[in-house]
Amino acid sequence: MSFFSTRGGACVTASQAILYGLASDGGLYVPAMFPQISRQKLSELAQMNYCQRASAILRTYLEDFTIPEIDAALEAAYAPAKFDDPAVAPLRKLNDNTHVLELFHGPTLAFKDMALQLLPHLTTLSARKNGEEREVSILVATSGDTGKAALEGFKDVPGTSCTVFFPTDGVSDVQKLQMTTTGGDNTHVIAINGNFDDAQTGVKNLFASEQFNADVNSRAKVLSSANSINFGRLVPQIVYYFSAYADLMASGAIHPGDAVNFVVPTGNFGNILAAYYARSMGLPIGKLICASNRNNVLTDFFATGTYDVRRQFFKTSSPSMDILISSNLERLLFEVADREGELIAQWMKLLKECGSYAVGEQRLEWLNSIFAAGYADDMQTSEEIRTVFEQESYLMDTHTAVASHVLREYREKTGDQTITVIVSTASPYKFAADVLSALKGKDAASGLDAFQCSEELEKVSGMPVPQQVKELRELPVRHKAKCEKDGMAQAVLDAFDSVTKVAEPLL
Ligand SMILES: *Cc1c(COP(=O)(O)O)cnc(C)c1O
Repeated sequence: MSFFSTRGGACVTASQAILYGLASDGGLYVPAMFPQISRQKLSELAQMNYCQRASAILRTYLEDFTIPEIDAALEAAYAPAKFDDPAVAPLRKLNDNTHVLELFHGPTLAFKDMALQLLPHLTTLSARKNGEEREVSILVATSGDTGKAALEGFKDVPGTSCTVFFPTDGVSDVQKLQMTTTGGDNTHVIAINGNFDDAQTGVKNLFASEQFNADVNSRAKVLSSANSINFGRLVPQIVYYFSAYADLMASGAIHPGDAVNFVVPTGNFGNILAAYYARSMGLPIGKLICASNRNNVLTDFFATGTYDVRRQFFKTSSPSMDILISSNLERLLFEVADREGELIAQWMKLLKECGSYAVGEQRLEWLNSIFAAGYADDMQTSEEIRTVFEQESYLMDTHTAVASHVLREYREKTGDQTITVIVSTASPYKFAADVLSALKGKDAASGLDAFQCSEELEKVSGMPVPQQVKELRELPVRHKAKCEKDGMAQAVLDAFDSVTKVAEPLL
């Protein structure tokens, strides 16, 4: 399978797309075509475990990887030592037509682990395949969860390093501590004075800067990305949509071929794009419901066909979705524009220079035949957590609750009773203060630190505090670097130069 750039150029292999992250014209790598999973194959998935399902999907894209390479990477990534549920991505039944796909059973308690536990294996294999002898230096902008998941994934992986930028005031206490306490000799964490879009735009500019790339190269390093712009992040995410469907078949909740809806709490559009890719590969998906928080630029886009970032940015109780520029939407636009790269380049230029672009009436119609969209503000999110806990005895985090609220409204508006899977992206303990306040009232968390909130939440909900949260209390803060928006390049080089220990060569 070859990969093209969404902006027209490039034809690379899967391993090259994974290794270099972003195409040189600034576009994102997209597969030349969507491999088809037949009904027969789909039925077979129902009998398989998670790694076997993943292998069946991954091998259709990663053609320059051998099947034993793929299988070994999967066994390592989703090992019982890493994921605390044998199903890896278990499906829980809420009621007859609502199920929850739990993607937070990995080491950092958010769905980012599903991809970032695997990506380092794919990255080092890709480096070998392409004779890359430089250190693969991963640069990440995070809205909270990607950072820690990338650090955990790449920590002490030979031949790699991982540098994370997070917005100083844009992440939860647990998220910040998770990152700043990370061990490993090849990890760097830098707080940027700005919001997530500043961090993400800054990282994109670093990738595009000739001077910065030369500075990095002179240190025998080459940049790569662990953000969801990297195809290596997307492909493991396609798997769990198939897996959820397979579980629904296996439990008899659906017959093979029945359509299922998914509602996905969305920020950078990576997770829901993977669902769209699964649909394009033949997975019977009815509607894909895009759920946003108060930063509802995507809700407006699906309503009007105009993407307009000229609006206020809000900090919400679902910080991992506090995003105005959803990078992965570019991959959907590529499909909506009949894979015409020039048009995408034009739209992206308009977005950069004028802050908006419009796709036109016909393309909007096509989008609305597949997607629905809605949003929840913090109050609605909080109410949803309480309602679901009271009615279904199920505890949701703030991001998952956004999706659950949007589903509730979607059903009221459309009457669509299709079996729907709510994609759950984080453990409630990652956002314990907000979840506790939702259950016990606004003041329940005031004056309590993240750990006290977790203990209270355990008492109220009966759901045990995960080990990963408990141990944070004991870990020393190792990363204290800070920088301004325009100081990111220097901050990375300083971090590189501060490492005295030379990483082991990969080859
Ligand atoms: C990253 C994240 C999201 C948003 O996912 P995208 O792929 O960026 O749309 C939602 N919820 C949580 C908990 C996340 O960490």
